[in-house]
Amino acid sequence: MSYSKIKALLGSTDFDRAVTVKGWVRSRRGGKPVWFIEINDGSTIRNIQAVADPAQFSEELIAQITTGSCIGVEGMLVASQGKGQSMEIQAKTITVYGTADATTYPLQKKGHSLEFLREIAHLRPRTNTFGAVFRMRHHMSYAIHKFFNDRGFFNLHTPIITGSDAEGAGEMFRVTTLDLKNPLRKEDGSIDFSQDFFGKETNLTVSGQLEGELGALALGLIYTFGPTFRAENSNTPRHLAEFWMIEPEMAFYDVNDNMDLAEEMLKYLVQYALDNCADDLKFLNDMYDKELIARLQSVVSKPFTRITYTQGIEILTETMLSKKKKFEYKPEWGADLQKEHENYLVEHFGGPVMVTGYPKKIKAFYMKLNDDNETVRGMDILFPWIGEIIGGSQREDDYEKLLARVKEMNIHEESVWWYLETRKFGSCPHSGFGLGFERLLLFVTGMTNIRDVIPFPRAPKNAEF
Ligand code: ATP
Ligand code: MN
Repeated sequence: MSYSKIKALLGSTDFDRAVTVKGWVRSRRGGKPVWFIEINDGSTIRNIQAVADPAQFSEELIAQITTGSCIGVEGMLVASQGKGQSMEIQAKTITVYGTADATTYPLQKKGHSLEFLREIAHLRPRTNTFGAVFRMRHHMSYAIHKFFNDRGFFNLHTPIITGSDAEGAGEMFRVTTLDLKNPLRKEDGSIDFSQDFFGKETNLTVSGQLEGELGALALGLIYTFGPTFRAENSNTPRHLAEFWMIEPEMAFYDVNDNMDLAEEMLKYLVQYALDNCADDLKFLNDMYDKELIARLQSVVSKPFTRITYTQGIEILTETMLSKKKKFEYKPEWGADLQKEHENYLVEHFGGPVMVTGYPKKIKAFYMKLNDDNETVRGMDILFPWIGEIIGGSQREDDYEKLLARVKEMNIHEESVWWYLETRKFGSCPHSGFGLGFERLLLFVTGMTNIRDVIPFPRAPKNAEF
């Protein structure tokens, strides 16, 4: 098979040679003296123009070349005299692979709403917007693997089906092969999960962290990059029921090392987007958000602000008392930061903010307890535009303290016995964090709804494609 990617052709100046391109027609115009056909093959946001002499092609063939149809064009690549493009293909043969009925093809006009495009998720990758977003999604995914590989991290595959319900990160989706109409029951009438496929209750994972820690306590530096599932009924532009998460876990890192790594990683990824996705970024910047590229540049150019939760509450309280801003929820030590609080802190410091030292009662059982016995070494990173992009912590590495937290929080000890054991055998200080991949993509693409940065979004009442 020999054909050229449009991206490669547009990047070359090697003219007057025979080439073949294959792709989808964006438009066809012209007529008598000459037909102009704009073709896009997904390799770049830019199209290549083919010119076809009506004398050489039948009317039937030309009639089939409509917006959305799939064609191959073979011909001479020449420098173009026309305005708007530097080169074009003088078509010699045209193959129609698939026609697209012009009266029913949904992507006829320009400027469809993102909401409408969500309803045609099978065709929206053909638009400039989603081509740009999904190419960037690929580049960010590659950059994540490269970042960690270059620093000696190993990619660990943690399970998607899990028997532990200890994370407490959200409602879970059950995995079962039991007959839902007639499940086997125990004497007391409750469902007998010992008869289920795995012989116990199982769910889709909400995080790979607990298993990731097992990896770090042997391989040193690991990261996971996999799908996670949360049955939270939150219909927000920042939550999906199925999303991808990157979770590095590092032996011998304390919470400060953890923050250093997270900041380095986020800056690396944003810089990677600036360096490798220029065409797509320019399009998104012009089309949706004139501040996008400037915002990306600002994030890589200065250090992230680091504050404690207590300092955060102080700032918010002062702001409230001085009536500089009204909050719907009163900032109060001991309560979780609300979206409006996170947004205010980011605004206040004019960039990303890393918050540490949260009250233990609002954080997960595995976070390392500080000497005050009240706060834990959690770390959240708040981003402009997004809110929380990363949640992480130094982990409790002391067996007795961890066990006490498990009991205090009514977690079934028997479901995490293996996790507890790592603190009995060769425990060490270690830390890690979780980056929501789609939250990162919201930031780098400037899209405002998380359903527009994943090809096939899963959200409440939404699993069509
Ligand atoms: P939030 O408060 O925004 O719901 P969380 O505290 O539940 O987040 P964590 O459990 O710490 O988040 O998960 C780590 C990261 O995963 C978050 O910082 C965020 O980037 C991402 N994330 C969490 N829940 C979702 C979701 N439902 N959809 C997409 N990304 C998510
Ligand atoms: Mn959540």
